Amino acid sequence: MPVPHQVRSIFSFFKSSVVLNVVIAGCVAIALVVFATPSRAMQAQVSPSSPQLGDTISVIVQAQGAAPTVTMGAKTYPTFDIGNNRYRALLPTTPLDRPGTLALKVNAGSGVQTLNVKLRNRSFPTQRIWLPPGKDGDGTDLEFDRVDAFKAIVSPQKFWNGKFARPNVGEVTTGYGLRRYYNGVFAKDYYHRGVDYAGNYGSAIVAPAAGRVMLIGRESEGFKIHGNCVGIDHGQGVESIFLHMSKINVKEGDLVRAGQTIGALGGTGAATGPHLHWGLYVQGQSIDPSPWRTQSVE
Ligand SMILES: [Zn+2]
Repeated sequence: MPVPHQVRSIFSFFKSSVVLNVVIAGCVAIALVVFATPSRAMQAQVSPSSPQLGDTISVIVQAQGAAPTVTMGAKTYPTFDIGNNRYRALLPTTPLDRPGTLALKVNAGSGVQTLNVKLRNRSFPTQRIWLPPGKDGDGTDLEFDRVDAFKAIVSPQKFWNGKFARPNVGEVTTGYGLRRYYNGVFAKDYYHRGVDYAGNYGSAIVAPAAGRVMLIGRESEGFKIHGNCVGIDHGQGVESIFLHMSKINVKEGDLVRAGQTIGALGGTGAATGPHLHWGLYVQGQSIDPSPWRTQSVE
């Protein structure tokens, strides 16, 4: 996969651009030229420059003063200080988004600048599933409420550092974004919100990046779909969830490092066989973890 290069858009605001005063007195002409210095400059950097459905869009804004925000569609995302007056927002895209031009509005101080980014279409594999009527495995309110609360976490600290590691040695059996037909009808709101690894039952599940354990769910407590699961907050709205585990080695509040074993692969919850489901979320949306594995998000 080609490494997307970064595109740089430079915006400069000038309080007054060029003031040219020409004073003519008699036959003496005096030209007074005042070049105003830039009073405030905002620079923004978007990567990848040509994102596709499922990619996480990073917007780095160079700005003075308060942390800028970035608006995409109806949602406004925070930025986080990454040093040297630079702030970064991470914007999720998913297979449910419409490809085309995204108008990203960078709100910094009194200025708003629009960055146009083209979101490319991407085709995902499809799968046809036939279920007997009334047999679609309902989950419990408890598990959905707990998982929703976990996905809503946006903590200011950044725990991850560099590329994400693979959480299990098993081969990937179902990739991110797979779409489904149920009984011949396209499920327009469904896409596979993660990556499945078909490792051996009991094989180690490791944290792909550092973070804080913020969710522990157990099948015995009502996690009928997710099964035994662990959620790790990597910080700044980036979260991992691991499903169908046979064993959990960590507890809520634990700080884990990249590569640390957090439990073992299993088949708890709604799983047809032993596998690990790893979902990576950015600002509550399931994004494609693959770019996070191959590129380092600063
Ligand atoms: Zn899965």
